[in-house]
Amino acid sequence: MMSKISVFSACILLGACIDSTPDAPITGSMDTSDSAETSDSPILWGEETDAVPEFYAASDVPPSQIDRVRTDYETASQSWGNFGPLEYWIVGNDLDAAAELDEEYCAVRIAKDHNLTEDEQQYCLERDYNFEDYARDGGAGLNVVRSDYEAYSVMLITMASKYPYPDETDYISVGYHEYFHVVQSAHIDSRDHEERQSLMVENPWWSEGGAEYMAQLLYSRQPGVESGYLKERMTWKMQSNELLEEGEDFTEIPYSKRAIIAYDLGAWFIAYLIHHVGEDAYRVHFYDDLNSEGWEDAFIGNFGMSADAMLADFEDFLDEPLSVQLDISP
Ligand SMILES: [Zn+2]
Repeated sequence: MMSKISVFSACILLGACIDSTPDAPITGSMDTSDSAETSDSPILWGEETDAVPEFYAASDVPPSQIDRVRTDYETASQSWGNFGPLEYWIVGNDLDAAAELDEEYCAVRIAKDHNLTEDEQQYCLERDYNFEDYARDGGAGLNVVRSDYEAYSVMLITMASKYPYPDETDYISVGYHEYFHVVQSAHIDSRDHEERQSLMVENPWWSEGGAEYMAQLLYSRQPGVESGYLKERMTWKMQSNELLEEGEDFTEIPYSKRAIIAYDLGAWFIAYLIHHVGEDAYRVHFYDDLNSEGWEDAFIGNFGMSADAMLADFEDFLDEPLSVQLDISP
């Protein structure tokens, strides 16, 4: 998973700010971004649209895998709203094919954004966590291109071809996870990196926990998925509670090797939140209020208490037996 360092490197790269947070070997990560119209696009940032994403794939990616990604996008966008502009970049395992896709990617960036010139091609190709990195390391991630430097704001989902592999069910839930980051990012309008980051919450527990829980919840609702799927996954995630060190607070864990703990317990926090306030209060109303009210006030306004108070209650919940914890999971 990527750290803030990569975000800054990426900013330098295109001479613009691409917030990038691959969820590398684990699941996705995010980033933030926000709004407004792009110079050439009729799609308004943060508003639902009928426009469909563009799908790009490396030459070694089979059509069946592209169909898989497209289908998972359709399921997620129909469930949570269709936002954009959005591009999918599907990377295979072949490094040369990934390098070719990088060339295409950088050409698209420059073609779509009149603020970027051919001079920036090389910076783009050498950006941190490019497609060759994805071909080598696997994973998935969302980047958001949106700042005062860019004329064209866009969200970019990269799906690699391992960790998870395309024939694993996790490939589907990771696709949902990345798309939930699209929903989150579309609801943050600012072009200022710091402001976007604060509305997204800098440490992963909130945004990653939300993306992960919503992805697993959506997957559990798909036809043919076993009824015990979600409780099984949540049981696995609760094992991260044992990995916390004495006195360690999962909300203080940054993107790092230990971030999986924040992903897992963050997912549990979102499950706990939704159990108390309902899915719409979290997924719809909180995000609708985020720009105008800010994170803390949107939290209090929609969930009826401060985040600190709810986190304190959640700490008690983490001490309950697993059977009691699983009772809140559908
Ligand atoms: Zn993520």
